[in-house]
Amino acid sequence: MATPSKTQFLTEVHTLLKKRHKLEPSVDKLTILEAVVYGICHEDATREQADAALARFKDGFFDWNEVRVSSLEEIQGIVAGMSDAEGRAFRIRRFLRQLFEKTYGFNLEPLAKKPQKESVKALEEYDAFSSDYVLATVTRLALAGHAIPVDAPALRALRRLGVADESTEVPALRGILERAVPKNRGAEFGDLIEALAHDTCVEGEPDCPRCELRKICPTGQAQKAEAAAGAKAAKGKPGKAKSAE
Ligand code: SF4
Repeated sequence: MATPSKTQFLTEVHTLLKKRHKLEPSVDKLTILEAVVYGICHEDATREQADAALARFKDGFFDWNEVRVSSLEEIQGIVAGMSDAEGRAFRIRRFLRQLFEKTYGFNLEPLAKKPQKESVKALEEYDAFSSDYVLATVTRLALAGHAIPVDAPALRALRRLGVADESTEVPALRGILERAVPKNRGAEFGDLIEALAHDTCVEGEPDCPRCELRKICPTGQAQKAEAAAGAKAAKGKPGKAKSAE
């Protein structure tokens, strides 16, 4: 069980973020294959980017076999505009090649009917599942499990919020979140953390003065105290004109 204080804190985070971000409904069910591709596209990117990339794969190729035999440049064109487009294209094609070598096809759906642990064990044989984010995405969207995917932007925001520290690994953090946030609110919570990480809790300097969570966030509070101390010190200093006298 998550500690009550962490559960309460994450509930408050959820409530405050919901006030700020009005989310469009997100995809809630995919096949296992689609969820793997979606997870690779979504990691460190936005929902909108991942939705658009998956739609381009479906519209731009005859089937997944055509993607498998395409050049990396062609696949890269689908994920263009995202960070590490080359790496994403390589991972997607690698997954499709491994899948074809193992099954001579592109249907993993029989796994969706097996107990989740058994399905995950089988899927972990594919390199794509070395990413905990992809594993969590597939668990949520294709295996009907409770999973809250955590990528680098989400990890950054959750660390600043004090939910994780520098030594907390992503699977452990995911465990904390999944124990604290019930399954029926998990998808929305994940989407809200993503919105936070791409809106105010950005890489580099976070935009805390604009953040809904500032009053409960240790980093936001520290930044506020630092800014106040700086302003106070500047006020106490003699002005340039005076010091030049
Ligand atoms: S207050 Fe600042 S550090 Fe905290 S979550 Fe908001 S943007 Fe991130």
